[in-house]
Amino acid sequence: MANTHIHHVFEYTDVDRAFWQEHLEGWLPRRIIDAHVHIADPALQHTPPTPEQRRQFWVGEAAEPITGDGLQRASEICYPGREMSFVAFGSVDLSWDIDGTNEYTASQCRQRGWSGLAVLRPEWTQAQLLGQLAQRGIIGVKPYYSMIRGDDGTHEGSIQASIFEFLPHHLLEVLNDRRAWVTLHVPKAERLGHPDNIREVREIRRRYPLIHLVLAHLGRCYTLEHAQEGLLPLADDEGLYFDNSAVMNPDVHRLALEVIGPRRLLYGTDNPIFYMRGRRQYAGRSYINRTSYPFHFNRDREAPEIEASYTLYLYEDLLAVKQACEKLGLARQDVEDVFYNNAKRLIDASNPRPSR
Ligand SMILES: [Zn+2]
Repeated sequence: MANTHIHHVFEYTDVDRAFWQEHLEGWLPRRIIDAHVHIADPALQHTPPTPEQRRQFWVGEAAEPITGDGLQRASEICYPGREMSFVAFGSVDLSWDIDGTNEYTASQCRQRGWSGLAVLRPEWTQAQLLGQLAQRGIIGVKPYYSMIRGDDGTHEGSIQASIFEFLPHHLLEVLNDRRAWVTLHVPKAERLGHPDNIREVREIRRRYPLIHLVLAHLGRCYTLEHAQEGLLPLADDEGLYFDNSAVMNPDVHRLALEVIGPRRLLYGTDNPIFYMRGRRQYAGRSYINRTSYPFHFNRDREAPEIEASYTLYLYEDLLAVKQACEKLGLARQDVEDVFYNNAKRLIDASNPRPSR
C-alpha cells in the first residue's frame, strides 16, 4: 500500500502495517489513554528556533509541534480501531506564549473530551494559578525546569535545578488544595536516582498528599541502571504514579511493572517525538537513537537493509511494554490498567475547579 503521512517527516508504511498486525493488533487494549502528549498551535511560538538552534539537541530536529487536529489524525493512523484519549499539554519552552498555549490546550481538550495540563510558570501568584485551573479542560499542571526565569528576565532554566525552583511551595499548596494532577519531569543529569530528587519527591508526597503526582518517563530512567537507582527507593509509596512515556527499554518497563506494579503506571508516548522511525540501543547508562531520516544528529547510521526494517519508535515502545508484560505473566486486567484504567481513575479524581 502507499505510504501515509503521519506528521513532520514521518510516514506510515507497509513495515508499520505488518508490525502492527504481527505484534499489536491482537494484544493492545481497545481503549487507550496516552497520558503524555504535547500539542501546540504553531502561531503561538513568538520566537521560532533557527535551524542552527534546532540542531543543538536531537529532539529539536526530530520533533515538530503538532496541533490537536494533527494528533487526532496521527492517532487514527497509528492506533487503528482503538478508542484514544489523551492527557495533553503545550510545549515547555519560553519561546512560546505560555498563556496562549495553555488556553489552546484547554480549548482542544474541551472540544475533544481529552484532559489538559497547564504549563506552569514558577513566578505565578496563587491567584494566577487558580485562574489557570479554572479553565474547563484543565485538570492540573506540567512544570518544567526550562520555565525558570532569572530576576533580570533572562532564561535560567537548568537541568541541575531543585524541583522547588520550578514547582515552588506556594503553588504546591494550591495544587494540593485543588487535588490537581501534576506531571513532573525530574531534573538532574543523574535522573530520578539523584539523592536530591528522591528527597524532594518524598517531601512533595509528605507535605502535599492530595496532589496526583505522576513522574514523567519513569523519572527519566531510560536504562536499567538508572531505573534501579531511581525506582527502587520510591517503589513503596502507594500514592505515587509514573508515566512510561519515551522509555522504550523492555528491561526498564519490566522493572517498573515488577516494583511499581501495574496499578500505578500510566501509558504515555511523549508524542509527537515518537513518530520517529528507528530503534534505540543501550550500553550501560547511555543509549543511542538510531533513525533512518538524515537529521544532522544522525551521523552514525546502520546498514540500509537494517534501516529499511525500522518501524515507529511508538511501535518499538509498545512491543517493549508487551514483552515486559509477557515475561511477568501479567493478566489482561493489568494491561488494561496501564493503558486505560489508572489514567481514567486519576483524571476522575483530579478536579481542580471547586464544585458549587
Ligand atoms: Zn514530554
